[in-house]
Amino acid sequence: MHPAWIEIDIAQLKKNLALIKTAIGSKVRLCLPIKANAYGHGLVPVARAIANMVDYLAVAHVTEAVQLREAKIETPILVLGAIHDEQIGDLLSYNLDFTLSSAYKARLVANWCEKLRRVARVHLEVDTGMRRTGMRPETATSLYAELKKNRCFHVVGIYSHLATGSSPSDVIAHAQIDAFSAMLHDPVFVGENLIRHLANSTATQYLLTSYFDMVRPAMLCFGYRAPSSPDKFCGIKPCFSLKARVSYFKVIEAGEGISYGHTHTARERTRVVTVPVGYGDGYRRALSNRGEVLIGGKRYPIIGTVCMDQFMVDVGTDSVFVGDEVVLIGEQGPQSIGVNDIATLCETIPYEILCLFNERIPRKYLNEIPSTS
Ligand SMILES: *Cc1c(COP(=O)(O)O)cnc(C)c1O
Repeated sequence: MHPAWIEIDIAQLKKNLALIKTAIGSKVRLCLPIKANAYGHGLVPVARAIANMVDYLAVAHVTEAVQLREAKIETPILVLGAIHDEQIGDLLSYNLDFTLSSAYKARLVANWCEKLRRVARVHLEVDTGMRRTGMRPETATSLYAELKKNRCFHVVGIYSHLATGSSPSDVIAHAQIDAFSAMLHDPVFVGENLIRHLANSTATQYLLTSYFDMVRPAMLCFGYRAPSSPDKFCGIKPCFSLKARVSYFKVIEAGEGISYGHTHTARERTRVVTVPVGYGDGYRRALSNRGEVLIGGKRYPIIGTVCMDQFMVDVGTDSVFVGDEVVLIGEQGPQSIGVNDIATLCETIPYEILCLFNERIPRKYLNEIPSTS
């Protein structure tokens, strides 16, 4: 057994999804983006656990979508990223919905459709302010009029992505919603059977006018609420914990330096334990001399630099033994350390902290009800 692991509480994840479904109402569909290994939670296991609770899964790359299809996930999957010519064959043959964001790409797709005798299920991406990928609204309007006449294409949806959304009164987000709505009022789109979607996690919490026909919240589904999230989302909690077992115990003397570079020196005789997790797992080196862990329901500081595979913790005069459970992210007794706390210490966002945990740490899925199929 590996001495460190990530626990994913599947029951909590399902509870989060159920709460979100109630909050958005039965007329709005739910798409769960599970790109980047489902934000570190594990792509295929997460998809398997929740596939029947969502209308759509979304990923960034065709490679992620193919992994899901090979794992027998039959739910509609939308590939969000801009496509490349050599990916179109897989997008068509694995029955994936994908993003169309220019007339040039539409021509590439049409060539493949003719070659493979398949219909492309596409969502037009409109740039309303993110300036990453997507067409200007007027380009999307004229391209849709063209594609309607082309039997190669089944235009399933049309979407955009928000660049901001840190508060309910966010001016930029409101301008993007307005631009998206205005475009959809063009006669070309009125009365069309398209899934219109825009909202990410913050918009799902703050901006009811961003819902349209489907929402795409990921961080919220994984349990991370925005600071002034409405009460209807209370009950949503993280389902991700990071734990390890103490691998070594020693006593160090006053004046002795610890870890690479001796960035910490003991002021007095103290007990030090080693935790077998490091930046090689995705546990950030920025936590050197700053982070904390929980052992026996108490908080203890990381001392010295975080190494590739391990780091040291000062437990003072307390009794801690090799094999004791250490919580790096999650709860233990009355204490907790959140992904947000870690992100703040590392001067980044919780998304990055979650995504950086790689495959070296095994993931354990708790409270799974085995599927009967
Ligand atoms: C990742 C992503 C989302 C989900 O964002 P959250 O902030 O985690 O809700 C939604 N839409 C698109 C296009 C994305 O790339």
